[in-house]
Amino acid sequence: MEKDLPGFFYAGNHKGGLSVGKAIASGCKAADLVISYLESSHQKLLKDASP
Ligand SMILES: Cc1cc2nc3c(=O)[nH]c(=O)nc-3n(C[C@H](O)[C@H](O)[C@H](O)COP(=O)(O)OP(=O)(O)OC[C@H]3O[C@@H](n4cnc5c(N)ncnc54)[C@H](O)[C@@H]3O)c2cc1C
Repeated sequence: MEKDLPGFFYAGNHKGGLSVGKAIASGCKAADLVISYLESSHQKLLKDASP
């Protein structure tokens, strides 16, 4: 699903395991992916804007 929806990130007990620890790990991983996505989008914007 995430492959077809750039900028959409899913986390929780449906992904990677049911336990609270695994749900938290899933959230942390998604947060890292969001940060990488935003940083690369920002870099692309700067690159496209430069003459
Ligand atoms: C009875 C029970 C006992 C458990 N005991 C343990 C245990 O002892 N140890 C353990 O490790 N794990 C246990 N688990 C599993 C663990 O609690 C869950 O897998 C974990 O909490 C899942 O976290 P989550 O953030 O993915 O989902 P959730 O904690 O279910 O959080 C999802 C949140 O999204 C909200 N939400 C849903 N739909 C919408 C919407 N449309 N818009 C806005 N908000 C929405 C919900 O209200 C909820 O707050 C237990 C689960 C249950 C049900």
